[in-house]
Amino acid sequence: MSFTLAIVGRPNVGKSTLFNRLVGRRLALVDDQPGVTRDLREGEARLGDLRFTVVDTAGLEEATDQSLQGRMRRLTERAVDMADICLFMIDARVGITPTDQVFAEILRKRSAHVIVAANKAEGRAGEAGMLEAYSLGLGEPLRLSAEHGEGMEDLLAVLTPLA
Ligand code: GDP
Ligand code: MG
Repeated sequence: MSFTLAIVGRPNVGKSTLFNRLVGRRLALVDDQPGVTRDLREGEARLGDLRFTVVDTAGLEEATDQSLQGRMRRLTERAVDMADICLFMIDARVGITPTDQVFAEILRKRSAHVIVAANKAEGRAGEAGMLEAYSLGLGEPLRLSAEHGEGMEDLLAVLTPLA
């Protein structure tokens, strides 16, 4: 059985970097499907022996500050509803921001399965952010570096029993 994983979180935490790493070139172009905007990118992910669908909440980067809050909420809710599992990404170097708290709230209400991932944690960076990520109450955070490919085995280990 396969599953759909949605990567959600505020802009600039590294969602698309992880999406690209998981998908490589196997990007499904969904723009021309009715009702599907380019704000959600869908791809066929490979991680170890797992094959699954991954959804990136793109499009937030272009929103103005004023429209960001509502847009984030709508996009995230759509992604969450498509997904079996949500990967909620935070920036381990920045720690938890008020915007991250908004996402945490949406996920608590709406998603059955949440994996918290503290990204940009390569080397010894982001130790404080890891601790803050625990305080979200969404389970044990995964330590990731999407850019450097660190933590991918741990992600595989978390996803495998859910597949
Ligand atoms: P998104 O807005 O959440 O999709 O974030 P992006 O994937 O576009 O990444 C935002 C910025 O963070 C880019 O400059 C990335 O190169 C950088 N970035 C992503 N992952 C990592 C990481 O693991 N470590 C570091 N140091 N930078 C990262
Ligand atoms: Mg992005």
